[in-house]
Amino acid sequence: MNETFRLGRIAGVDVGVNWTVLFIFGLILFGLSTVQFPLLFPGAGTVTYWVAGLVAALAFFASLLAHELAHAVVALRYGIRVDGIVLWLFGGVARLRDEAPNPTADLRIAGVGPLVSVVLGLLFSGAAALAALVGVGGITLGVLGWLGLINLVLAAFNLIPAAPLDGGRILRSVLWRTRGDRTEAAIIASKAGRVFGFVVIGIGLAQLIFGPGFGGLWLVLIGWFITSAAGAEEQQARLQSSLGGLRVEQLMTPDPVTVTGDMTVASLLSDYVLANRFSAFPVVDEAGGPTGLVTLTRIKQLDDEQRRATLVRDIACDPDEIALVGPRESVTAILPRLGACADGRAVVVEDGRVIGIVSPTDITRMLRIADL
Ligand SMILES: [Zn+2]
Repeated sequence: MNETFRLGRIAGVDVGVNWTVLFIFGLILFGLSTVQFPLLFPGAGTVTYWVAGLVAALAFFASLLAHELAHAVVALRYGIRVDGIVLWLFGGVARLRDEAPNPTADLRIAGVGPLVSVVLGLLFSGAAALAALVGVGGITLGVLGWLGLINLVLAAFNLIPAAPLDGGRILRSVLWRTRGDRTEAAIIASKAGRVFGFVVIGIGLAQLIFGPGFGGLWLVLIGWFITSAAGAEEQQARLQSSLGGLRVEQLMTPDPVTVTGDMTVASLLSDYVLANRFSAFPVVDEAGGPTGLVTLTRIKQLDDEQRRATLVRDIACDPDEIALVGPRESVTAILPRLGACADGRAVVVEDGRVIGIVSPTDITRMLRIADL
């Protein structure tokens, strides 16, 4: 769920939108403008229905944004780095780089999102009630009422105690507090998430088979998303418990072969890749400072001719796309930062110089040793 285009920066948080959000936006707009509003408020013109639908859909996404922003802002207050917010097919996601430092922080970061949705739901519902009281009826009432309801539904759904939903994180924080073990708490919350995901898939399948239309397909998709996200979280939690206490310098490959950005990809291939067993090379400046990372995956995307014409710096991952970590950081702390561009690698930097590299192989090898 990467961002396709950026909306801007709000309260110090980057806000982006994935193209899949257009699908759900269209679904809401179309549903409200052509089905729900004409049914509930007959007699208005087509343009009115579409304008009302557009206003409602935009306000809904603004509400979703407020929910995610609340997560991000509270996380920032606890010193957690936030990569930004992305709105996508199944709502929004605040991408946090670090884990919460303690159960209270975990609870507050998770709880504030649904809290904002409840407040918005009550505000819109109150406005709808007020509008009805002073005699404003019709479609204005419809828009306010729908926004009130949808925000309350959003809060209720998110409070289901199953990871990766907010309720799952709340469950994790409570278990973490009562049992004192974050990993165990995270594993239980993830298991609840998988069970809940399967239940949703089951309901969706039953609806597909026995019910009218294809509404069940949507539930199957949501259930599948919850199940797989919960599974990934469980794996992450287990990984963190196996690697607990380990520092980066204990598993990094020290003194990696580095390259400069001004050589061609062809010479990188002949002089470095074929001469060494490594599949990633930190790109450094004259002082040995990191300016990027070039991987075999990136080289493979070019044909022979392009390799002769392209410089390493043009295909290298930018420094802000790779995890630059310190040798004494804990391995579990760097895991969430291992990005896709670097194929899950981290570059170890000390005093501004590259001193090592951590690859997924280093991590799996360490896991095997931990298993012994
Ligand atoms: Zn949330």
